[in-house]
Amino acid sequence: MSELPKSARIVIIGGGVVGVSCLYHLAKAGWKELLLLEKNELTAGSTWHAAGNVPTFSSSWAIMNMQRYSTELYRGLSKAVDYPMNYHVTGSVRLSHSKERMQEFQRAKGMGIYQGMDLEVIGLSELKGKYPFIETHDLEGALFDPNDGDIDPAQLTQALAKGSRDMGASIVRFCSATGIERLKDKWIVKTSKGPIECDIVVNAAGYYAKRVGDWFLPYGGRSVPMAVMSHQYLLTEEIPELARRVEETNHKLPLLRDVDSSYYLRQEKNGLNLGPYEKNCKVHWKDEDDPLPEDFSFQLYPDDLDRLEWYVDDAMKRVPILGRAGISKVINGPIPYTPDGNPLIGPSPGLKNVFEACVFTFGIAQGGGAGKVLAEWITEGSTEWDMWSCDPRRFTAFADDDYCQAKAAEVYGHEYAIHFPFHSWPAGRNKKLSPIHDKIIEKGGQMGAYNGWERANWFAKPGDDTSEASTQTWKREGPWFQRIKEECLAVNSDVGVLDLPGFARYHVSGVGAGDWLLSQIVGGLPAVNRISLGYFSDERGRVLTEMSIMNFGKDEFTLITAGSAQWHDLEVLKKGITEGSKINVVDQTEEWFCLIVTGPKSRNLMSKISNADLELPWLSLQRVKILNKDVLLARVSYAGELGWEIHVRKQDLREVYDLVISEGATPFGMFALDSLRVEKGYRAWKGDLSTDYTILESGLGRFIKFDKAQSFPGKEALLKEKQRGETKKFVTMIVEGNECDAPYMSTVMFDGKIVGEVTSGAYGHRVGSSIALGMVIADVAKPYQQVSIDIFGQSYNAIIQEPGPLWDSKNMALKS
Ligand SMILES: Cc1cc2nc3c(=O)[nH]c(=O)nc-3n(C[C@H](O)[C@H](O)[C@H](O)COP(=O)(O)OP(=O)(O)OC[C@H]3O[C@@H](n4cnc5c(N)ncnc54)[C@H](O)[C@@H]3O)c2cc1C
Repeated sequence: MSELPKSARIVIIGGGVVGVSCLYHLAKAGWKELLLLEKNELTAGSTWHAAGNVPTFSSSWAIMNMQRYSTELYRGLSKAVDYPMNYHVTGSVRLSHSKERMQEFQRAKGMGIYQGMDLEVIGLSELKGKYPFIETHDLEGALFDPNDGDIDPAQLTQALAKGSRDMGASIVRFCSATGIERLKDKWIVKTSKGPIECDIVVNAAGYYAKRVGDWFLPYGGRSVPMAVMSHQYLLTEEIPELARRVEETNHKLPLLRDVDSSYYLRQEKNGLNLGPYEKNCKVHWKDEDDPLPEDFSFQLYPDDLDRLEWYVDDAMKRVPILGRAGISKVINGPIPYTPDGNPLIGPSPGLKNVFEACVFTFGIAQGGGAGKVLAEWITEGSTEWDMWSCDPRRFTAFADDDYCQAKAAEVYGHEYAIHFPFHSWPAGRNKKLSPIHDKIIEKGGQMGAYNGWERANWFAKPGDDTSEASTQTWKREGPWFQRIKEECLAVNSDVGVLDLPGFARYHVSGVGAGDWLLSQIVGGLPAVNRISLGYFSDERGRVLTEMSIMNFGKDEFTLITAGSAQWHDLEVLKKGITEGSKINVVDQTEEWFCLIVTGPKSRNLMSKISNADLELPWLSLQRVKILNKDVLLARVSYAGELGWEIHVRKQDLREVYDLVISEGATPFGMFALDSLRVEKGYRAWKGDLSTDYTILESGLGRFIKFDKAQSFPGKEALLKEKQRGETKKFVTMIVEGNECDAPYMSTVMFDGKIVGEVTSGAYGHRVGSSIALGMVIADVAKPYQQVSIDIFGQSYNAIIQEPGPLWDSKNMALKS
């Protein structure tokens, strides 16, 4: 066992598959003085008892990328590090009981092909050929993934550990980290064997991540959003039919997932391994009556087979040979969950030089990719793929224990559920309410959660079907469709109002704030009392974020950004502040609220309720009074009509809203806003705008000011790209004949080849067409070019439009 050094450059806390993969990838990146601490033996947490399934399937582009990378890494790892390892690439069949599930498979197939994987949607006879023991009478078909398989989690971890040690990294086992201190610009990790000084700490403590995270609370950290569930699988004794098949074919069965019933079934030696994600699941270690034990290394919970009864029964009907053998072993172990089931990988919110690679539900499948991503965060400051869906900053302060436990149970019980576009998951709701929440509900608001804030997605009328069941479809038409249309048309022909609580907002001030902002964004600043968009780039010229900048003069600004970006963008701003600077950035998201009042009759409405100068042009700002309350008016409209945002203090919102409504505004919701903004080609953050694309590829070159006095992140990369010419271009496409709007990452085809992808899709009620925004290779991205888009396995014609907005291309309505 290695001795504990006094210092290291990076200390990783936790020797499960994820921590060790982080160590391996950091060492591979050439970093030295790397130390991993494990309080027991490697794998003592969740890793040792994992079933070891390694799927590539995901409906998330980032997770699919990570899992694909893992399979590629694991295939060559044994040889690369010279360590024997059992990795069976058996392929898998994922069963479908419904047309909607088949559509989900088609979408995953498209994404998989784009990532270079040959996923196949297969019929029942082909399924039977691949899996002879299965009952298929009630199935629609299946997805075959040739890359799926299973690996021995302990061997995998040990192989990564060997590779790391061979590259000079240290692993100290039986050494608990016990606390943290900050000493000038160093972290001191306290351990059972003495303190270690380091620059960077990585929390890879698995289901202990919250405990480790809590040590950082005094230094500005937050409580790690997670809960621990118990997860079981059971192993059977040998099944003679399986033994015979192996003898005859020398092959294991492909892994089977009955995702609609919610379990997997895998051949384990000559028996089966059944692992359900049961609805009647159990959260563990949730309060003082059931505390997280000091040490649970290599331990399990008692078996709880009652919970699995329905699933065992269902699986025996599906694969009757399962019933031919007794159960030989039950594994019931702790598995950590974040509120959305994706792990935490990246910078720890509120802290410098602290990273998280923890709370993995599929850590064996994702561990390889996670190590790559974490190492990139540390060594390069950004990642190859946009990793927002795993970014720790996606959960903000509202994600308390109640929320985490409710969501963890919901996600676990629906581990394989389809995520439909018009559905809102019900658990953990009402965490953050607008002061007019009751009024929105009274008006029929069908709510969705946005960074914890409840906002109306659409407004139902009496008699509308608002059941959860009605949302179980990919189709755009449903009870909401007519209402969204009415809302859009009210905005288009009259005036609408949208309550937008949680619009993230920062006050930026201090001597030199203007100059400083110019050194952060790629473009210029608005004039005093004006508002404009500011784009923040990373060093590679890719889109970090977009904020609206309001200039109040004398180095005083308000920056506004997407609700979900609240912590992300605050850190983008804070990171740009150098020591000794006089710039202040204050988060005011909870103090100010916003009503979007928009439509051709909005001027008329505003004239009745305010003393504002309503002839001030588009993009102007003014502070005025409504009902004698101070409000800020910004003449902008994300809906693309004449309009104003009324920014109002929390305590004044109710009265102002009542007044706007009494003057005849029609409430509209987020779904209508999405439709309206897509018609204008306005990009949405983490769909159209992400670090998967550069500012130039995103069609935002007009916002860059290369000739300004201040340099800015990404300038060099963008200049080079400008000289070279972009390889991809942002385009608007009109899709023909589709009843489902194109989802994120649908593939765009031309001449039989993939030439791009959709970044958002919606139906535009003003233009009467289905619209897809996306990225297409420059050679093809020409106006009127016909391409096709693969939407759930069907190919639809799509026409690339002239650059610029589809609706009101000259912005006449906005400027009217
Ligand atoms: C029954 C079951 C089956 C599963 N099957 C699969 C599967 O088939 N495929 C899949 O992808 N995933 C599966 N999982 C999930 C998988 O086990 C986890 O996602 C994965 O092991 C997480 O790895 P990790 O390194 O993040 O955490 P862990 O393996 O829990 O490692 C964390 C380590 O940190 C150490 N540690 C904690 N605190 C400290 C401290 N203060 N100081 C030093 N060390 C510390 C712990 O001892 C532990 O070894 C399964 C889980 C369960 C329960």
